[in-house]
Amino acid sequence: IVQWTPFIQTYKKHKYPWVQLAGHQGNFRAGYKQGTILKKLCPVEEKALESISADILRPYVPCYTGVVEGADGEKYLQLEDLLSNFNLPCVMDIKMGVRTYLEDELAKAREKPKLRKASCVYTCTDMFEKMIQIDPKAPTEAELRAKAVTKPRYMVWRETISSTATQGFRIEGVRRGDGTSSKDFKTTRTREQVLASLNSFLQGYSHVASRYVQQLKSIKATLEISPFFKTHELIGSSLLFVHNETSALVRMIDFAKTIPLPENVHITHRNPWSEGTHEDGYLLGLDNLIDLFSISEKN
Ligand code: ATP
Ligand code: MG
Ligand code: MG
Repeated sequence: IVQWTPFIQTYKKHKYPWVQLAGHQGNFRAGYKQGTILKKLCPVEEKALESISADILRPYVPCYTGVVEGADGEKYLQLEDLLSNFNLPCVMDIKMGVRTYLEDELAKAREKPKLRKASCVYTCTDMFEKMIQIDPKAPTEAELRAKAVTKPRYMVWRETISSTATQGFRIEGVRRGDGTSSKDFKTTRTREQVLASLNSFLQGYSHVASRYVQQLKSIKATLEISPFFKTHELIGSSLLFVHNETSALVRMIDFAKTIPLPENVHITHRNPWSEGTHEDGYLLGLDNLIDLFSISEKN
């Protein structure tokens, strides 16, 4: 369940409801230092943030100031709050890449059914129900007969109902200027549908599209020469867009599934993914986003 405003944040005496567009409620807290937030620690993300701090990507990622203990005794990553310089900002989370699961997660899903016994039947039936609700034509004849799908099959299929598999990104959530929010983008798939959602995010802020295009182009140019990007697979990572009347910023967030590539594996971040290639489609998604924002810019 997404909670839109898990806490009230304070910055330079100004108080605002913090906006959380994805992730579990309770994963975030107000930071100890002004202008920071705390995200529940995940060792993979901690490592990625440490490496990024020493990489040319650093300016495009919220400033990371180490691990701290929360009031609940749990460990948290202390990160720059990207909302702190904005009053009532418009916010959008775009999850990058042509898939949002690790190859390992797919492999585990394939091995597990044997171990999972009875509970597997329930889960697979559950996934079958979700599948036919969205697309009654999606199941194969065998799946229809079994009234079930396997978990790996479901995982691969799920990426095709949004723009993830084809465009290399999908919208996760949006908070617009009028205060309305939505996370109802699970089946926003075609270029036209995505463009309409982007336009509704930009509505009333005609100057920001070109700022976003500029910043996305700088991010792309930096990614193309970044040693960190060259050696990592970025899965489930997002670009966070924040703007108001006067400013606009885009930053890379969420590195909980950003892992070093196996030795001797090189990826283009653009070529199509098939199991074993480790391709993530990050640059494919970025190219498409730059295209779409450029169309909005001209409108
Ligand atoms: P998931 O894996 O489901 O995407 P998560 O728990 O890994 O979630 P993130 O994706 O890192 O969490 O962040 C969730 C939301 O919190 C983002 O969509 C954004 O709204 C907000 N957020 C995260 N980091 C920041 C930040 N540094 N500044 C401002 N907002 C942030
Ligand atoms: Mg995320
Ligand atoms: Mg995450």
